[in-house]
This record gives sequence, structure tokens and C-alpha cells, in this order.
Amino acid sequence: MIRAGIDVADGATLEADAVVVGSGPMGIVVALELAEKGHRVLLVESGGLKFERAAQDLARHSGNDVWHVPADLAVRRQIGGTSATWGGRCVPFDPIDFEPRPAVPDALWPVRYEEMARYLDRACAWSRCGKPVFSALELPELAGRSMIPGFPDGDVLTTSLERWSLPTRFGRVYRKRIEQSPQVDLVAGLTCTHIACDPATGEVDHLVLRSLRGPRATARGRFYVLATGGLEATRLLMASNDVHADGIGNGSGHLGRWYMAHVEARVANVHLTTPPESTVHDHELDADGVYVRRRFTFSPELQRRKGLPNVAIWFVNPDMGDPAHGSGILSGVYLTLVSPAGRFMLAEAIRQARTKTPGPVRKRDHVRNIVRDLGPAARFALDFSYRRFLKPGRKAPGFFVRSAVNIYPLDYHGEHRPNPDSRVVLTAERDALGVPRIKTELKFSDEDVASVEQAMRELDGAVRGAGVGHLEFLFDDIATGVRECLRESSGFHQTGTTRMAASAADGVVDANLAVFDTDNLFVASTSTFPTSSQANPTLTGIAFAVRLAEHLNGRLRGPAGPATRERLPGVGRA
Ligand SMILES: Cc1cc2nc3c(=O)[nH]c(=O)nc-3n(C[C@H](O)[C@H](O)[C@H](O)COP(=O)(O)OP(=O)(O)OC[C@H]3O[C@@H](n4cnc5c(N)ncnc54)[C@H](O)[C@@H]3O)c2cc1C
Repeated sequence: MIRAGIDVADGATLEADAVVVGSGPMGIVVALELAEKGHRVLLVESGGLKFERAAQDLARHSGNDVWHVPADLAVRRQIGGTSATWGGRCVPFDPIDFEPRPAVPDALWPVRYEEMARYLDRACAWSRCGKPVFSALELPELAGRSMIPGFPDGDVLTTSLERWSLPTRFGRVYRKRIEQSPQVDLVAGLTCTHIACDPATGEVDHLVLRSLRGPRATARGRFYVLATGGLEATRLLMASNDVHADGIGNGSGHLGRWYMAHVEARVANVHLTTPPESTVHDHELDADGVYVRRRFTFSPELQRRKGLPNVAIWFVNPDMGDPAHGSGILSGVYLTLVSPAGRFMLAEAIRQARTKTPGPVRKRDHVRNIVRDLGPAARFALDFSYRRFLKPGRKAPGFFVRSAVNIYPLDYHGEHRPNPDSRVVLTAERDALGVPRIKTELKFSDEDVASVEQAMRELDGAVRGAGVGHLEFLFDDIATGVRECLRESSGFHQTGTTRMAASAADGVVDANLAVFDTDNLFVASTSTFPTSSQANPTLTGIAFAVRLAEHLNGRLRGPAGPATRERLPGVGRA
């Protein structure tokens, strides 16, 4: 059932077996998995069915560093959470991400890759991104083609795949299931403003819930799950500091630290000498009709040998805003995106990133491109509009224009090294419900920046070695180029600030996502990840959400009592 917080009587106590706060992908998955196992779930959501400015403002940051986008672009306060605006790219973390490595010192996962991978089929099902197969070699319909002919997998691979969801807006896709579930009580428009702990035991006693329109309520359950998104879970733990003076789970000072995003940069073009029509540059469809895409990735052996962070690199379109590309299709898309209609076509964060270009809009040159290319541009507009906006169900995730001269810009998407000084902090400013706002202090190290050039030079060596082309660097000083690209590029993937660890000395939550100071509070968020991978984090986050539901199911079926952290599956260093 779904109901509005305004209908909850002032002073009411809402009770369930488990109280899940936040109805983004993680919250919805935990709630429905538990409900389907017969447990009563209270799902508390700050926003409503649609975007509301007042609810969104509760997430506003007090300030950001130069790398971080404002909260308005990074998160959504509404049913379905940020999946209302996400791109929908689904990629699991790799086995190497779970290994202790010199590239990411001080970051040890207390869970093995194999343990997470057990839940990938469920995570793919929830995300609606097809089957959990992420190598073109394992899909007969793709295995016969190469991304670049004559460039076999070696130190550099071209067969690793990303999958694309519908894109799955969890609020919309799972609304009916929530409405029809007698086990789930989703209350929208109620914000958790405080986690109240028992001073005697340190355990969570109840949650304080408040509506922007007045009513207050209390939530009680046997277990509590924070699924409020990476930074908001961190904020709630930090701000609930009456019993645990430094914030809940912050006994060893890790809460809010180790904030990681991804290192994202575009500093090189690849020039290929192979036949242009043979380059697999765009999305492909697998046998189930799911969009997939190949990328360059580096073998674990190369990463270990060279001390490289985990990286993925993919072909992109030329800068759309620069009409020198000569493409009527790119000019047409660019003019549409910078027009008032553009805001309705793409998530604002992605729209801004795609149209970011120095100088004013060169409208006349773009129109010239369109006129010159009128036939293909018109055909593209009709076909893509249908596949992206009108076709029922699965939508085209994007488009890539084939390069007649076989030259493609490359996007680098790499692991951000954990750094305790990269963090979020509480400030004195409070939101409309009295909760302190956060400020981001995200940091990229010189090593993070240098990794881009190192990885690109590896790719250049591999491409040259295979005799299929070379890379052209776009900046004399690549580090300066990387820093330019990094400005306001982060905040979409929020990892590290409630890091998972084997012991309380090393993190905030344990291998079962239980907050160390407590036995009944859990965090379902990508913020629990100790490293950031090359992969976008949501699919792996959902795998952990499914695993958490399985764990809570076991606890709810068992006798009430203290957790047996050391005896639970998957616990132990990778
Ligand atoms: C533009 C954009 C593109 C992205 N693209 C991708 C992508 O392609 N692939 C990928 O893997 N990831 C992507 N992401 C990231 C992805 O959206 C997040 O990782 C994912 O939504 C996190 O899910 P979540 O449930 O943890 O948090 P959220 O989706 O943020 O949901 C949190 C929920 O909690 C609610 N809430 C917050 N605080 C409270 C409170 N105090 N009380 C009650 N409710 C509260 C919020 O309203 C929200 O509904 C993208 C993000 C953005 C912004």
C-alpha cells in the first residue's frame, strides 16, 4: 500500500518487522524482497510520487568542492529515488575490486567477489537489464564480432560488456507491486530526521519521522535499514549524535570519510586504421533485446603488474557543441538539447554534461551542418525519437555516430583511490526540518590524475602493438586536461562514506551491512563500498541489497537476540 504522510495522525507510532528508510532502488529492493518472504515492512519516503521542490530542498548541500555537482543534480527526493533520473547503465564490480591491491591501500573488502556475485542474477532482474552475463564471449549472438577487427583480448580487453536497464525508474516500475503488497506500507512525504538510540544499549530504539506539512510520527521495528542514498545515509548517521557522540557507527572515525566518485576524463582520441564500417562503436542488442555495449578494460594481470586502478574506456561522440564535427545529426541533437525542450529529454545532469562547451552556441554553423546532412539527420531524428521516447518498454540508452574516418574520442571512467581526507562533513546550516546540512570535501589526488595518462598510454601501446591504430592526446599537459574534465563531474556515484569493514576499527558497517555500534541498524547503499571500481555502482549495490534482505529474513525468522557477526556467510577477508 502507498499512503501520504499527511494522513498519518500527529504523534502516531508506525510499526513493522523492518523499517526501511528511502524508496530508491536499494529501499524498494530490500522492502519487496522482505515482503515477499512474508515480513511486514514500513517503507518511509521523504518525497512524493512526483518531484516536489520543497522535498528536494531537504537534500541541498551547504556547499560543494569544485569537483562535486550540487545535490539537485546528484539525487532525487521522490518515490524511486535517483532512479527517476539515472542513466540506467548496469555493470557489476569486478573480482579484482575485492582484492587487496597496492593501487588502493587501506581498503579491504570484508566480502569476497563470489559472495556478491551470487546475487547478480537477482540484481539484474530487479534492474531489468537482462541476464547476468558481462562478456561478449559468452553471448553467441555477439561472440563472432570484434569491437576492432584484429585487436584480440590480451592485456587490454574489448569483450567486457555494460548492460542497460529500461532505464528502470524504480518508483514507476514497482509502484503497482508496492500498492498491491499487503506487507509493504509505503508512507510518502515523511522524512526520517533522527535515529533515536537507547542510551543504555546503544541500539536503535525508534526513528523520528517528520512531514513538511506538520505531523510527526515514530517508527519502530525489529530492524532498521537506511536506504537514503550514499550521502544522506551518512548525514543521518552523523546527525544522530546524541547517544553516540560522534555519530552512529563512527567509533573509529571513518564515517563521512573515504568519499569516492569516479575519475572521469576525455583526453585522447583513438585513430583506427581498420575498415571504419567494421568498428563496433555503438550499442548492440543481445538475444533478449537488451542493449549492451563493449568497452576497453584492462586485464587483472596488467592492473596488478602496473599498479593500475581499475578502468573502463569507451568510444564517445565528438563534442556536440563544436560544429566542426560536421555532423547534421550531432548538430540537430545539440540544438534540441540546448533549447527549452532539452530539459524534458534528458536528466539535467546528463544534459549539462553533453552540452558543456566553451563559448556561445554557434547556431548558424550547426544549422549549416543540418542542411548539408538533411536526409540522414531527418531519418535519425524520426528513428531515434521513436526508440528513445515513444517505443513502449525498453528505450534506446543513447546514440553514437559512426566516424567515417574511424576516429573516436575516448571517455575514461576509472577507480577513484580511497583517501580519508576526501569526505563529507556536517555544517551549522539546517534544513526545513532542522537536520544539519552537509558540505562535500571530495578530493582527487595527483595519483588519481596521473592514472588517466598511465592507462591511456597502456591503451595506446596495445593499439599500436596490434597494428590497428594509435591514440592522439588532446592536451600538451594531460594532468591539466584531466583536472579540467573533473570539475563538477562527480556526485552521481556515492561510495565510501559508510565503508564496510571486517572490524569496527576499520569501518562503519560490517560484512552484513550492520552498523558497528548497533545490532539492529543496517545501511543499504553504495556508500558501504570500500573501493569504487571502474563500474557504475548501482547494480552491485542492488546485489548487496538482495543479500541484506536474505540476511534480515534469517534474523527475523530466528530468535530475537544479538547478531553473530563472525558466523555469517561471506564474512572474512578477500
Ligand atoms: C544523472 C544520474 C545518472 C546516473 N546514472 C547511473 C547509471 O547509469 N548507472 C548507475 O549504476 N548509477 C547511476 N547513477 C547513480 C544511481 O542513481 C544511484 O546509485 C542510485 O539511485 C542509488 O540508489 P539508492 O536507493 O541508494 O539511493 P537513491 O536512489 O538516492 O534513493 C534514496 C531515497 O531515499 C529518500 N530519502 C533520502 N533521505 C531520506 C530521509 N531522511 N527520510 C526518508 N527518505 C529519505 C530519497 O527521497 C530517495 O527516494 C546516476 C545518478 C545520476 C544523478
